[in-house]
Amino acid sequence: MFSDPLIAVYALLLVAILVIYMGRRKKAEARSIAKYTSATEAGLLEPASLHPVIDPGQCIGCGSCVSACPEGEILGLIDGKAVLVEPSHCIGHGACKTACPADAITLVFGTEKRGVDIPHVSPSFQTNVPGIFIAGELGGMGLVRNAIEQGRQAIESVRRLNGIGKGRRYDVVIVGGGPAGIAASLAAMQHKLRFITVEQDSLGGTVAHFPRGKLVMTAPATLPLIGKVNFKEISKEKLLAFWKGVVNKTGLKINFGERVEMVTQVGDGFQVKTTRATYSTRSILLAIGRRGTPRKLDVPGEESPKVVYRLIDPEQYRGQHVLVVGGGDSALEAAASIAEEPGTTVTLSYRSENFSRAKLKNRERVAKAQSSGRLTCLMPSEIKRILEREVEVEQGGRSRMIKNDAVIVCAGGILPTAFLKSIGIEVETKYGTA
Ligand SMILES: Cc1cc2nc3c(=O)[nH]c(=O)nc-3n(C[C@H](O)[C@H](O)[C@H](O)COP(=O)(O)OP(=O)(O)OC[C@H]3O[C@@H](n4cnc5c(N)ncnc54)[C@H](O)[C@@H]3O)c2cc1C
Ligand code: SF4
Repeated sequence: MFSDPLIAVYALLLVAILVIYMGRRKKAEARSIAKYTSATEAGLLEPASLHPVIDPGQCIGCGSCVSACPEGEILGLIDGKAVLVEPSHCIGHGACKTACPADAITLVFGTEKRGVDIPHVSPSFQTNVPGIFIAGELGGMGLVRNAIEQGRQAIESVRRLNGIGKGRRYDVVIVGGGPAGIAASLAAMQHKLRFITVEQDSLGGTVAHFPRGKLVMTAPATLPLIGKVNFKEISKEKLLAFWKGVVNKTGLKINFGERVEMVTQVGDGFQVKTTRATYSTRSILLAIGRRGTPRKLDVPGEESPKVVYRLIDPEQYRGQHVLVVGGGDSALEAAASIAEEPGTTVTLSYRSENFSRAKLKNRERVAKAQSSGRLTCLMPSEIKRILEREVEVEQGGRSRMIKNDAVIVCAGGILPTAFLKSIGIEVETKYGTA
């Protein structure tokens, strides 16, 4: 067929490269279809906040967006077009949009079905309520870097308010001990503002709630009193250790385990009521993220220290009787991973009849643990009381006591929208718009 043997060799090489390329692309497409099907079955098609929308008419299927995403295969190519195959894992890096040579990607908040509430915030981070500022993910932009930058810049705006440094009140109450709250607190320290920082949980914000894994930072940020921060890739544990180091080095004080419950306007300032005290302040910086406050069971005994609202380390439950409450992915993941620890007895209680809200992978893990006798599922069931060594569970109209050393409630969170509205902050619900 080819007169020149060299041309024949080149042609064969070309065909081989093409076959390998097509094979890889097919495999990647099969993975994308599997991910997308699993997300669809679990009803997990709604991204949390900022995410890409791909115009299939513009998309040329080059795959640049797929490889640009720092989170891995969240986008995939199906039928030669980019698709958001794991929408619920998208955290809004926006690297896909920058990488797209065809301008086929728009970044938007919310979807047609599920609106995302975004508060009105001016370029100086002030809300429509003068004196109340918002920084970080609550304002709509995710990512550790944005939170750090916004926290720092918001304090610059607070400094310009009339009345700062005067009177017997705080200059600013900073709410939240995540990246935005930490950066804001350091900036407040640097500028010698009179401030207090309160955090309902522990240091580090949303990051502290991740399952173990890596975090990616695609651009540097400046942390007051510390300098430039650019982790590129860092494990959650190392990032939390970094924040602890920052607190130790600077002597920053954060009131942990204290939640802000109510804000009242008084003259040109505010009264901030928390679970522990009431503070008088000229201004407030809300750096509370978007995860909200964990939903409680509201049953007697819930205040016991053995009740927690997230799983940190399954190993700590070795040899214990553990109750997990909830039916979403975090509940199923918690129950299955504790059941894998030696000597544990795990009960999973959920108020519905099936785990339709959870991913197939997690449902399969739970089914496996159940069939090996390491996990018992009580559905539909309801927790009635939490006692020192037992819990009372009602199922099918009958109550029973089960042995218990620890309770993990994974019942979702109460989003901050109602709190924002209660203090007069205007919130817009975005349905797939920028
Ligand atoms: C699974 C996942 C993976 C991610 N991966 C990355 C990544 O790789 N790279 C990246 O840059 N970003 C990543 N992010 C996003 C990043 O974690 C967030 O954008 C960032 O933490 C936002 O910081 P924040 O300070 O605005 O809010 P948060 O980190 O959410 O902190 C808010 C804090 O406020 C506290 N709080 C809330 N309400 C109250 C109240 N009423 N009173 C007192 N305290 C209150 C909360 O307990 C919380 O600690 C990821 C997010 C998720 C969910
Ligand atoms: S980078 Fe743009 S053109 Fe290329 S696959 Fe992604 S969306 Fe399509």
